[in-house]
Amino acid sequence: MQAKNVATDNVKNAGGGISPSVSADTLGQEMFELIARMYPLCRSITGAGVRETLAIVKEHIPLEVHEVPTGTAVFDWTVPREWTIRDAYVKDRNGVRVIDFKQHNLHVVGYSVPVHRTMPLAELKSHLFSLPDQPDWIPYRTAYYHESWGFCVTHNQLLGLVDGDYEVCIDASLEAGSLTYGEYFVPGEIEDEVLFFAHTCHPSLCNDNLAGIAVATMLARHLRTLKSRYSYRFVFAQSTIGSITWLSINAARLQRIKHGLIMAVLGDAGNMTYKKSRRGDAVIDRAVLHVLQHKREPYSVLEFLPHGYDERQFCSPGINLPMGRLTRSPNGGYPEYHTSADNLDLISPAALQDSFSTYTAVTEVLERNRRYLNLNPMCEPQLGRRGLYRKTGSYKDIGAREHALLWVLNLSDGEHTLLDITERAGLRFDTVSAAADDLHASGLLREIHSHGEST
Ligand code: ZN
Repeated sequence: MQAKNVATDNVKNAGGGISPSVSADTLGQEMFELIARMYPLCRSITGAGVRETLAIVKEHIPLEVHEVPTGTAVFDWTVPREWTIRDAYVKDRNGVRVIDFKQHNLHVVGYSVPVHRTMPLAELKSHLFSLPDQPDWIPYRTAYYHESWGFCVTHNQLLGLVDGDYEVCIDASLEAGSLTYGEYFVPGEIEDEVLFFAHTCHPSLCNDNLAGIAVATMLARHLRTLKSRYSYRFVFAQSTIGSITWLSINAARLQRIKHGLIMAVLGDAGNMTYKKSRRGDAVIDRAVLHVLQHKREPYSVLEFLPHGYDERQFCSPGINLPMGRLTRSPNGGYPEYHTSADNLDLISPAALQDSFSTYTAVTEVLERNRRYLNLNPMCEPQLGRRGLYRKTGSYKDIGAREHALLWVLNLSDGEHTLLDITERAGLRFDTVSAAADDLHASGLLREIHSHGEST
């Protein structure tokens, strides 16, 4: 497939919620370039576009690629046939391609059944989709789960079609094959897992969701360089049928997943938006909210609703995993959503970098959210003698660090985690966590592990 509308110059500067202190550094640029490479591929719920996309991701992380055969039962669904698209066009009576898939993937309704015949404009029009309010943008449409075909066009393109007969061709096939998804597991000290999910089925659309794939790829690459406590699992799969397939295959081991996030819409200039898990008060909900509260930008929080992205599956009642959704603009919350204007001009290295930093900050909270026991609970221990307390000063200027020491000592009764203490004290998590490290190093705390033993 040829590159289409790949704009590598004139990239809009990130505005909105991007802190000016966050520069479009090397990593942001690397994610942007990764997106630019994946952008021309024609992805769908099955087929070559997804495989080629995962092959690019695999250049950065050792992804395991799984193929699930057509016809496999996955909960109430069935893995669909594989869609292969070779060409598609509408030609006028002069043989000129007035609609051409080779100009833009979005021109073909995704998963269209093949067609090749001549028809009058009136009949063709019932298969054409445009956006009258955005007359220069091509909409994104799919025909999953019911057999049909169609073309998406700019409204100006539609208005330019004159009466007459048109040769209509969608050179595609729908055949038994497989559904392809990618998975990467980063083992940690414990079996408890943090799951990240990015959807892979959208064709030439950048923010939704090549940005999610790019940030997930780089987050995975980052986490594999660390000695982490949690194990981390990244799943790159299709919206709906991909997450349902993955959940069905992994149903017996979902109890290992302790926290998770749906990764999408991470490249635009909008502020971060967090959609809570179905549970609403899971540790992941609290960890993300803490990180967002301490960024210096506005953000939005949405309560759980059973529509949107793959939280629909991960938070279905029988699954009910503690997974939220962390995006920049919410899905459907920006005019370019699901149109050809969701291109490289909509996203920026700075926004991608900021999204990556927010995700890493969340993983840092999860990693350091320990539970301790105060070994000197009979009145306060003498901190000054241990070099933990300032030598002079009055209550009026007691610093956040000293507050944190006192809060950690007071609430480290084996019941409260550092995130509990952080919320109760109204301090920053990293301040509380650093205080706990100092107290632990001084022998005043013992860590309580969820499985019993302590150190
Ligand atoms: Zn979408």
